[in-house]
Amino acid sequence: MDIEITSYAVIGFIGAAIAVLVAWLAWLRRETPGGKALSVLLMAAAIWAFGSAMEHATLGIPGQIIWSKFEYLGSESCPVLLLIFALEYNNMRRWLTRRNVALLFIIPLIVFLLALTNEWHHLIWTSFTPSPAGENLTIYGHGPAFWIGATGYSYLVMLIGTLLLVRGALGLPDAYRMQVIMILTATLMPWIVNAIYIAGFSSIPGLEPTPFVVIFSGSLFAWAIYRFRLLDLVPIARHMLIETMNEGMLVLDQQNRIVDTNPAAKKLLGSRVDIKIGKSVAEIFQPWPELKTIFHDDNPQQRSEFTFGDARGGFIEISLAPVVDWRGQLAGQFVTLRDITDKRHIQYELESANENLRVKLAEVESLQTTLNERAIRDSLTGLYNRRYLDETLERELFRAQREEYDISLLMIDIDHFKHLNDTYGHKAGDRFLKFVASFLEERVRQGDIVCRYGGEEFLIIMPTVHQADAQKRAEMLCNQFSQSSLKYEPTEHMPEGQMPTGHMNVELHLTISIGVATYPKDGLSADEITVAADKAMYEAKQAGRNTVRVR
Ligand code: GH3
Ligand code: MG
Ligand code: MG
Repeated sequence: MDIEITSYAVIGFIGAAIAVLVAWLAWLRRETPGGKALSVLLMAAAIWAFGSAMEHATLGIPGQIIWSKFEYLGSESCPVLLLIFALEYNNMRRWLTRRNVALLFIIPLIVFLLALTNEWHHLIWTSFTPSPAGENLTIYGHGPAFWIGATGYSYLVMLIGTLLLVRGALGLPDAYRMQVIMILTATLMPWIVNAIYIAGFSSIPGLEPTPFVVIFSGSLFAWAIYRFRLLDLVPIARHMLIETMNEGMLVLDQQNRIVDTNPAAKKLLGSRVDIKIGKSVAEIFQPWPELKTIFHDDNPQQRSEFTFGDARGGFIEISLAPVVDWRGQLAGQFVTLRDITDKRHIQYELESANENLRVKLAEVESLQTTLNERAIRDSLTGLYNRRYLDETLERELFRAQREEYDISLLMIDIDHFKHLNDTYGHKAGDRFLKFVASFLEERVRQGDIVCRYGGEEFLIIMPTVHQADAQKRAEMLCNQFSQSSLKYEPTEHMPEGQMPTGHMNVELHLTISIGVATYPKDGLSADEITVAADKAMYEAKQAGRNTVRVR
């Protein structure tokens, strides 16, 4: 067989090489629906193109016929493989049983066998004439088996495949317009070109362009699938996921019109809203004016989540995400609606439980403080109690010893207090004790500690105060107290009938006696120094009361 590499042969070889390459790429991603069929389709196209190249390179019609027969292996498989691809693409794989696939291949097999044995019956080719275009091209005259089997059947199968692909492509949302165009181009291109050849309108008689168109289309499919992940968005996958999921979904175009939705969205928004494709989102969300601004944000990428109440008193969370087209430009928005009523309720319960806990904790803390206070405070006067005094005096004495300073004590006793009790009652006595407590507290300096020492006895600790100063301050206290009095209304406390007549709004007026002792002069321990102050106070009593005595 003589060989001559014509330009058509070169085109054929290049086409075959491209087909093999794309077939290989498709095979690598054969897990994608339709991927395997696409890979085999491209291999068949490669056989076809390779056969065509060899045909154009072979000198002499007998040699060319051998390659033409070889081409039939590819060309007869292509329509069936396209149908298989279309079925897989539309997720109609259940049709692709072994038996059905075998049935689809019966006629192509017969046509192929008839081509192989054409010399005996001429049912495929009736004549072979060299093309006037030269270039080693041959014009084939076609017999009935070609028209019925090769052409008729192939067109029928391709028509079904084409319709399926067109249906699938048109079912895609507007945002995928580019992919739709690619799929439609890839699907319809072979039809147009093949029709031109069959009708005899080819500009170059004898050149069959279809294998190149098939390679072009196959590559376009592959590109559409893998570049744009088209098959991930096939209608059936959308059906299974979108239609059955609990989340409501709305796809909006750039004009905020609804392009797509699902049953969950309708269920969530309730009967108040009539969701229809093409309606504007403003119309849909009219019952929720608070949502108005969400869809008209200048920067939709920034939008995240909003919550609104639904008709049932529940809560819906709405999330927006931009839909970006293949050029990276905003094509619309993807809105999801989620029922978060349960989540909200749990959240509320948790929050109120937390709040309760916080309140309880605050109560416990304040109780603790009160308790601590109570332990060191006298309940009647609010002054420090004897217990606190004992602890504090020890501590103060240690410090005074270390830092070598004086501490003076004033022991204060109310004069003839018993008489007040006896005359006006115990309540009046209590009231007077409070009066004395505040009288003393108002007059001591910062650092001085006032305690209720006993019944009507008080003790003031004055750190760093010398005896002379202490005496001066004691005399001042004694003097001022003798000039003060307490206005008292017996009705405040006294039971009816017990009230002594003539005692309405009395002025209670008493005096105090004070004994002064100073550390370290009058004693070193807390005991010694208190006893010394007590003794001084008794001396003051002895001296006629309402006076101060220093130890
Ligand atoms: P003097 O000290 O000047 O010698 O006379 P006095 O009357 O104050 O003497 P005494 O110390 O004997 O009496 C103290 C009285 O104080 C006895 C008690 O009934 C009364 N008293 C002690 N604690 C309280 C108290 O908490 N409330 C009331 N109302 N009276 C108290
Ligand atoms: Mg007294
Ligand atoms: Mg007393």
